[in-house]
Amino acid sequence: MGGVDIEFSKEIKILGLTIDDKLTFNSHVAEVCKKALNIYKQLSRAAKVSWGLHPEVIRLIYTATEEPIIMYAASAWAPATKKLGIQKHLNAVQRGFAQKLTKAYRTVSLNSALLLAGILPLDIRIQEAAALYEARRGTDPEQSHGEGDVELVTAYAETPHPAEHMELEFINLVDQQQVEAHNCQAELLAICKATRVILDRQETSFGIFSDSRSALETIVNHNTRHPLATEARSNLSCCKSQNKTVNLFWIKAHAGLEGNEAADKLAKEAAKTLKRKPHYEQCPVSFVKQKIRMDSLAEWNRRYKSGTTASITKIFFPDAIDAYRTVRKIEINNVLTQVMTGHGGFSEYLNRFKCKESPSCTCDPQQVESIPHLLFDCPVYGFSRYELEQRAGVTLSAENAKHIIMNKEVRQAFLEYCINIANKVIARNK
Ligand SMILES: [Zn+2]
Repeated sequence: MGGVDIEFSKEIKILGLTIDDKLTFNSHVAEVCKKALNIYKQLSRAAKVSWGLHPEVIRLIYTATEEPIIMYAASAWAPATKKLGIQKHLNAVQRGFAQKLTKAYRTVSLNSALLLAGILPLDIRIQEAAALYEARRGTDPEQSHGEGDVELVTAYAETPHPAEHMELEFINLVDQQQVEAHNCQAELLAICKATRVILDRQETSFGIFSDSRSALETIVNHNTRHPLATEARSNLSCCKSQNKTVNLFWIKAHAGLEGNEAADKLAKEAAKTLKRKPHYEQCPVSFVKQKIRMDSLAEWNRRYKSGTTASITKIFFPDAIDAYRTVRKIEINNVLTQVMTGHGGFSEYLNRFKCKESPSCTCDPQQVESIPHLLFDCPVYGFSRYELEQRAGVTLSAENAKHIIMNKEVRQAFLEYCINIANKVIARNK
């Protein structure tokens, strides 16, 4: 061009995504991982085992910076995460963070560290993000996630120009504040249908009464692009041009209001007797999202269970799905992590990594000082074990540990028991 040779290039960078000539995305992943590791290095200075940043702060840094950096444009390169080379890159980043989060020894396996940190493996997260993107866009080729079509938001181009927005508000007929968090798809449909009816009527003044505040809020907020809300808004502005007044009212549910109770009753009867095609059967995105997360957890669980590592962690958490829900309720510190990974100041571990000559316990030279022995067998701690068993009404054993952890009444006492023993042993082995 202009007498200058333009060379072939193996890579181009568009919108922050490095695309190589073979579409392997190796260089893209290498680059984002490098970026993420730089943050990790700075964090390492501030998050030591016995002092420094609180695990919750590290988790926040992880979810707010690391995941977004790595998951950028994930839907474009998600298939590449199936390759081992790329998984290795991702694991290296995640292992560091999981270790800092749990304050674990560097020898702890990724499987254990992730489980105790309560974070999903990155490659699974990336595939999750890609699946959600496909579902939102309505291009999920398998349609495997929901029943029926996924409810798509109205495209920007199809919403009215902001200048055409009519002022919308609803009148509050409820004295106390009560905001429901549940999905308001059905209520939205009802309000939307009411606006359709109003369009065809001759009268000029109407009131729409709903006991769903979230549905009303979705409708009066012009920034929401729920398809039912956009239709309701466009119907309402149509009513306005026909010189009809429509007031929206928020009323209290199940408060004995005559009309509302009658409507509830009719709805229940209709649901029992009518056998016809539903008026609206698009599947809300939140449902799809939940479903995708369930699939991700199942995949992680399969990986965790089939992995050869994390044998001590599996005594406490044999199931990754249960663990994911439980670990956040436990305050993880470096002693507890040593107990739950077996990697810590215990003779068995110290001997394995050549820091101590003998792996045996103080109670008997024949006994290996391992976590199961210390917690469930060792006579030295027999008294506190007996005390805990009496107080909690459970038998302490390796088979029972998983049930004790899941039981929120005895969990705390059990964890304190573990920490007490570990503290004594670690101090002795120093
Ligand atoms: Zn012992």
